[in-house]
Amino acid sequence: MSVLEIRDLHVTVETDEGTTPILNGVTLTIRTGETHAIMGPNGSGKSTLAYTIAGHPKYTVTQGSITFDGEDVLAMTVDERARAGLFLAMQYPVEIPGVTVTNFLRTAKTAIDGEAPSIRTWTKDVKSAMKNLRMDSKFAARNVNEGFSGGEKKRHEILQLELLKPRIAVLDETDSGLDVDALKIVSEGVNRAKEETGLGVLLITHYTRILKYIKPDHVHVLVNGRVAEEGGPELADRLESEGYDRFLEPVADAD
Ligand code: ADP
Ligand code: MG
Ligand code: MG
Repeated sequence: MSVLEIRDLHVTVETDEGTTPILNGVTLTIRTGETHAIMGPNGSGKSTLAYTIAGHPKYTVTQGSITFDGEDVLAMTVDERARAGLFLAMQYPVEIPGVTVTNFLRTAKTAIDGEAPSIRTWTKDVKSAMKNLRMDSKFAARNVNEGFSGGEKKRHEILQLELLKPRIAVLDETDSGLDVDALKIVSEGVNRAKEETGLGVLLITHYTRILKYIKPDHVHVLVNGRVAEEGGPELADRLESEGYDRFLEPVADAD
């Protein structure tokens, strides 16, 4: 079992107005085999948490810690974090002009494993993962995310998940913009990784819809850069019916 521990995490970002605090003391523990949903209104800091775990240089940790099996994640480069088994599926996957899906995946796999995968098994693995995700084989020759539809971008993120076999995956709104069929396919991919490798999942979502397919063990509500409430799956059901209103600033009565 592996453990990702986030303790009292404070994160700022530099904006035109100066240094802006975004996360104000987030504490979370995610073990392999567990699925945690992070829910919350827009702008509450969900993507900031995801990027900070992955090591995006734009975000500065001013207090607190992130450790993975006791190792200081914040002292690791982005590559070292990936090699340690941390994976981020981005909310807005970026285009990589001139790099095909095939080459991208093979380079990533080689970097993570420390050696190139054998051609024969790798080709077979890529084919079967693409088939699982109902991706046309022509996809492999296209440049990463260039001209991909929203759903294709999300499937490509899960394709990486299937092939790179991380221990803990942060999925940042992998459900947004997906129709029901694509949502099911993507969820099946995540559930396969959970079953086959005991993946730990930090599932960031604004909506409860994906939680019908990927069942969370724990639900955390992030509001204003803090965990405002935690619970089991029943908390997600409550958010579904009540929304986030009760977590937001009370509005004065208009009477
Ligand atoms: P969420 O993913 O929950 O919608 P984000 O983490 O994307 O929230 O954003 C939280 C807050 O931090 C927002 O007010 C957003 O505008 C601000 N923020 C996040 N990243 C940046 C950035 N790179 N530059 C400036 N502001 C940012
Ligand atoms: Mg958002
Ligand atoms: Mg976000």
